[in-house]
Amino acid sequence: MQFKKFNLHPNVTAGVTAAGYVEPTPIQTQAIPSVMEGRDVMGLAQTGTGKTAAFALPILHRLMQGGRGHVRALVIAPTRELAEQIHESIVALGKQTRIRSVTVYGGVNINPQIDKLKRGVEVVVACPGRLLDHIGQGTIDLSRLEVLVLDEADQMFDMGFFPDIRRILKQLPSKRQTLLFSATMPDEIRKLAHEVLTDPVTVQV
Ligand code: AMP
Repeated sequence: MQFKKFNLHPNVTAGVTAAGYVEPTPIQTQAIPSVMEGRDVMGLAQTGTGKTAAFALPILHRLMQGGRGHVRALVIAPTRELAEQIHESIVALGKQTRIRSVTVYGGVNINPQIDKLKRGVEVVVACPGRLLDHIGQGTIDLSRLEVLVLDEADQMFDMGFFPDIRRILKQLPSKRQTLLFSATMPDEIRKLAHEVLTDPVTVQV
């Protein structure tokens, strides 16, 4: 199985080649076709399985069609380190695209984030607290969001982020594609999945 079988946009496939990926990982083989079809996905996968590219590649593919300069995809992650890693992957895989990504997290000056958001981005990779600050201040417009990714949901639960996540969800368009990734499936994640996913495809590695 090779990446070209997915029929990703050529500029996205070029990013895969530039990243040195030859064969998709099992989570990528399972998730990419469903995400490309626009389905909601529940992904049970740990870090190290290639789960970032499993959502990043079909999102980049989608963003090659349609408008630019507004937020179309939002990835929410528990830690700054993970947010940075996801952003770096999107930038690397999207190297041959004109898609722009910004990170949004606390503990750093908010103004550079505001400047980047103002200049126009298609992807935001955020931690919950600072994202809520931007929403509250009106410095982010999520009204045209198409895809939401909740990454490492079990870790976000453990860190007490679910009240923030639910506040954020209220601000998002209800007509969207949602992808939920978690390493484990305790009751809280099952409940969240039930709340946010419509007729999901479950992928597990
Ligand atoms: P992740 O699980 O998303 O944190 O990815 C773990 C590591 O695997 C990262 O360094 C990725 O760049 C790398 N990776 C992801 N997909 C592939 C692939 N298909 N082939 C080779 N490396 C990959």
